[in-house]
Amino acid sequence: MWEKVLELVKHSTDPMVFSAFFSSVEPVSFADGLFSIRTNNALTAEYVKKNLGSFIEDNLSKEAGSPVTLKVIVNGEPEEESVTSPAPEEKESDKKVLRAQEPPKLNRNYVFSNFIIGPSNQYAHAAAYDVANNPGTSYNPLFIYGGSGLGKTHLMHAIGNAIYERDNSKRILYITCENFCSDFQASLSFKNNVHQFREKYRSNYDVILIDDVQHLSLVNRTQDEFFQLFEYLFANNCQIVMTCDKSPRELKNISDRLITRFEWGVVADIQPPDFETRQAIIKKKCQDRGFKIDDDVCSFLAGKIQNHVREIEGVLTRLRIYASVQNQPISIKLAKECMKEYVSDQNISLDVIKRAVAAYFDISISDLTSHRRPKNIAKPRQLAMFLCRSMTNSSLNEIAASFGGKDHTTVLYACKKIEETKNSDDELNFQIDALKKYIMKNRREESDR
Ligand code: ADP
Ligand code: MG
Repeated sequence: MWEKVLELVKHSTDPMVFSAFFSSVEPVSFADGLFSIRTNNALTAEYVKKNLGSFIEDNLSKEAGSPVTLKVIVNGEPEEESVTSPAPEEKESDKKVLRAQEPPKLNRNYVFSNFIIGPSNQYAHAAAYDVANNPGTSYNPLFIYGGSGLGKTHLMHAIGNAIYERDNSKRILYITCENFCSDFQASLSFKNNVHQFREKYRSNYDVILIDDVQHLSLVNRTQDEFFQLFEYLFANNCQIVMTCDKSPRELKNISDRLITRFEWGVVADIQPPDFETRQAIIKKKCQDRGFKIDDDVCSFLAGKIQNHVREIEGVLTRLRIYASVQNQPISIKLAKECMKEYVSDQNISLDVIKRAVAAYFDISISDLTSHRRPKNIAKPRQLAMFLCRSMTNSSLNEIAASFGGKDHTTVLYACKKIEETKNSDDELNFQIDALKKYIMKNRREESDR
């Protein structure tokens, strides 16, 4: 099983990284859905867990025909530290009785002290901080919204951690809205389980943190249940905190009465961080991981990683790995190398991008460069122009010319349009990611040839 999955990992990973890391990894055991692998290097464990954990779990699960959890054991370290997934759900019988001492399931790394404040997030931070100091009394609910990877979940856990730290008798529940919905739907399939479901969510919590409410099911019954729960919690002075990728008003197909409730307390948005804030975040992340980077490397990275703070972590992990594998200090040269997938100056040709987009949407290249405008062509064309602009150094005029001699304002409009919609459109985000990866892979293959 391990060999098969390893083969898949090999094909989806940078060859240098693969040989550096997987040579020291060996399978140890597989029992009760838990697959353990071992390495003697903590960095390897960190890399494998963070970057490949879910990929490996998915493929092991496919091989096994049932869900598999991956555990990465570092020789000489306590084993519990290394589980990639959260602990399995408690048994049904445990759920009813909420033990006061049981710590809430929160990510302990997400705290206020390591959240960098800048103009883009200071309002959301201040509101979160206030709620953490006066839960249930200052603003209820607190609704935090903004694009992906900008720190919403971090702030939410920080609230929970701060409250619990001050008073560990507080009962705090963190749940993703997706889990809430599937929990409810599952309860509907068994008699009397709705009752248990309600008991679970109404068992005197002081704080409920509901992440990603954009995933609230569109099914009326689930929305009704959510509404009832909201009313119950609110009436019982439970602090409610929600995050979402859009503002309440922008949520489609959510009942008006829920939207109104979402706006009852404080609605705070988080915007992508500006350059200085990105620099500060990079510095802080390096510091927390116990290594230093020079200011010029820091500015270089801050200039390149613009939208997602989450990307910063991936890049820093890779940077450290590259430095250790190549036994080199962390320099701009090294940073450039490891930013290959994000950076534009990798001489990708406009043709590679057009070919990739045409193949992805199953249309022809001449469709992309034509002046026809049916939707199934217009959108891929805009996306292709956007990718040309963000992945190459070509000018607007050059891109316009390569798309059948269009005007440069057409390219500008396309880029603006994609830029505007991408944060609120998961499918589009997914397509952009998938296409970028595909294009980078093709580019590498072309240059290998
Ligand atoms: P979201 O929930 O908005 O998609 P997350 O809270 O998961 O984003 O944040 C993604 C990553 O970026 C996390 O590792 C988080 O710690 C980090 N992050 C985001 N914003 C900040 C910030 N202002 N300071 C420090 N880390 C941040
Ligand atoms: Mg989140």
